[in-house]
Amino acid sequence: MKTIIYTCPYVPAEWIAAHGLRPSRIMPGAAGSTSPVGRTEGVCPYIRGFVNEVIRNTQASGVVVTTVCDQMRRAFDIIMRRCELPAFLMNVPSTWQSVAAHKLYLDELRRLGEFLVRLGGKSPSSRALAKVMLEYDTARTSVLTTRGYLTSSQYSELIAEFNRDGKSGITTTINEKKPFTGGIPLAIIGGPLLREDFGIFDVVENSGGCIVLDATETGERGMCAHFDLRRLRDEPLIELSNAYFGSIPDAFRRPNNQLYNWLKRELACREVRGIIFWRYIWCDIWHAELHRLKQWANLPVLDVDVSGDEQALTVRTIQRIHAFLEVLQ
Ligand code: SF4
Repeated sequence: MKTIIYTCPYVPAEWIAAHGLRPSRIMPGAAGSTSPVGRTEGVCPYIRGFVNEVIRNTQASGVVVTTVCDQMRRAFDIIMRRCELPAFLMNVPSTWQSVAAHKLYLDELRRLGEFLVRLGGKSPSSRALAKVMLEYDTARTSVLTTRGYLTSSQYSELIAEFNRDGKSGITTTINEKKPFTGGIPLAIIGGPLLREDFGIFDVVENSGGCIVLDATETGERGMCAHFDLRRLRDEPLIELSNAYFGSIPDAFRRPNNQLYNWLKRELACREVRGIIFWRYIWCDIWHAELHRLKQWANLPVLDVDVSGDEQALTVRTIQRIHAFLEVLQ
């Protein structure tokens, strides 16, 4: 089966799968010194990692890039210039409250559908789309129910596995239904994590904490809402748009109060005592959010700015996390 790769949470896997293609939301690794696109001042490390993965990928039949930030648009230009892989730029409006914005997103899904058909996909009937959506929804729910029964790193890795492999990728079982407890409950908030960044979960645990809320783009925050079964049956494409475009909270949205409403609910119900704010240098969107989050949150916030180099967790970062947790003891 042909594989379509992407990294943005606003690209619905169900839409690609319903066309008979394999969706794979990839999680890039850090760009090394031998990568096609090396370290460049001003370029977000995540974008660098993504572009390198696309250029090196020999299995994919197409790539979808979105317009969620200027650097992502730039990534599309580089991909077009540097590799032969068919690429599609999907417009995701930053405004989301108007009917016009939802209509634009729906039109973009239809345009994406035409691209998928050109790559050998088959345009799905509403019934076929609804069936795929239901399968993904069931798989997504089973991933979410493992929270609390896996370590924080296992849980976030399971989400990444689901994003990469879809419904067939779930192999982990709950550890005899014994919940994991202990450690000072923390949240990690920010953009996406690179593969190398996953060490953060163990660093926190080894310092006496536990990440109970992964609010990064690659964690729970980047998952779409549960589908409404009646709407899924009646108007599956509109329900797909509601669950992705209408529900995934992010800093780039205007206004982005959805992000704060989501955080308010999740921080409270998980009794979070401190926030690790994870941002890449050169990412203006998340950097701009730091000040507001500090003022808004009634919790201590540790600002961790990372360069996205191969060794993501520097000694300095590890020591700062350790000191943060000592203060919270
Ligand atoms: S981390 Fe920031 S600059 Fe990088 S892709 Fe995400 S929003 Fe864009």
